[in-house]
Amino acid sequence: MSHVPGFATRAIHAGQAVDETTGAVIPPIHLTSTHKQDGIGGLRNGYEYGRAGNPTRSNLEEQLAALEQAKHAISFSSGLAAEDALLRGILRPGDHLVIGNDVYGGTYRLVSRILGDWGVGHSVVDLSNLRDVQAAITPETKVLWVETPSNPLMKITDIAELAEIGHHAGLTVVVDNTFATPALQQPLSLGADVVVHSTTKYLGGHSDVIGGAVALNDDALHEKVRFLQFAAGAVSSPFDAYLTSRGIKTLDVRMERHSANAQKIAEFLDGRDGVERVYYPGLDSHPGHALAAQQMSRFGGMLSVAFTGGERVARRFAERLEVFTLAESLGGVESLVNYPSEMTHASVKGTELAVPENVVRLSVGIEDVDDLLADVERATARAAKKR
Ligand SMILES: *Cc1c(COP(=O)(O)O)cnc(C)c1O
Repeated sequence: MSHVPGFATRAIHAGQAVDETTGAVIPPIHLTSTHKQDGIGGLRNGYEYGRAGNPTRSNLEEQLAALEQAKHAISFSSGLAAEDALLRGILRPGDHLVIGNDVYGGTYRLVSRILGDWGVGHSVVDLSNLRDVQAAITPETKVLWVETPSNPLMKITDIAELAEIGHHAGLTVVVDNTFATPALQQPLSLGADVVVHSTTKYLGGHSDVIGGAVALNDDALHEKVRFLQFAAGAVSSPFDAYLTSRGIKTLDVRMERHSANAQKIAEFLDGRDGVERVYYPGLDSHPGHALAAQQMSRFGGMLSVAFTGGERVARRFAERLEVFTLAESLGGVESLVNYPSEMTHASVKGTELAVPENVVRLSVGIEDVDDLLADVERATARAAKKR
């Protein structure tokens, strides 16, 4: 077939063929740790032991690769497990990587507190300043780590430009595509080498499973990362792989609604009394709006808001929302609110990645937008009260 099916079609059908033996429309969950061999070494379809491979996980990997239009994808037990295997696959003691100044806090923790002890150096830069990126690259640099939109300040960086800068210096350019998802942004087609995901977020989409993924085209790097996963063990379970596959099938329609709802909430908050700034790439006033419009097909479901009343009002707003649940994480069908400096980004408090204390992050769900707007309006009013 020369025609590549559309995104929603790939999300629903890739890796999800009807079961040959029973005709089951949904492939079964292969809850097995090991596989019978037809004589020593006589493996059926290459399956031997669950850490090395499992049919349900293989199905998810085929689906993930199709989403990013990648040659290969590997499914992990968490987003950070995927990042860890990828980075250890590429880097050796003495090597160095360049990361953005508002990457996911856990990524920074992995790089600074784990890889650092193993002799891997890093530099933190503002990725939207291409000259700073250039200046941070040393002869030891092997990886350029990009996250756009960034978390939680929704900074947009130019993937194609960064890929060019990185490739000129011989680096592997990695994009954490968790916030945008492949429904909105396809980094490999913009020149990146590797995409990583926390599938815990939008791909799973229902806040019921932890998982991660790496998608890439390079055969040699794929082999390395797959070997690392096999040798170190951070595989996703068959049931987790099934849940993630199930979630992915509705990704396209969910992202449409997440984006529409977030746009309305951003517009509602923007310029409101007590609101210092709304960070949402779908607003004309966002500095990355034009770039986002070019490299993303929609603006996504994540936004942050800074309050003029400072930390006190920000905390009260987060605690007074009712339809939005106060919780870590993002990307589920239900709306969540997070106070980054004490929750998701507590690990970077006091570092150069610290998040301002008047900022609250919203993961806008797919509920009725009128209910979300009413909740936001009520909470802003109650947060602004003197007592
Ligand atoms: C959550 C998250 C991760 C880490 O993923 P886990 O599944 O929690 O290990 C990495 N990057 C981004 C952008 C995230 O939001």
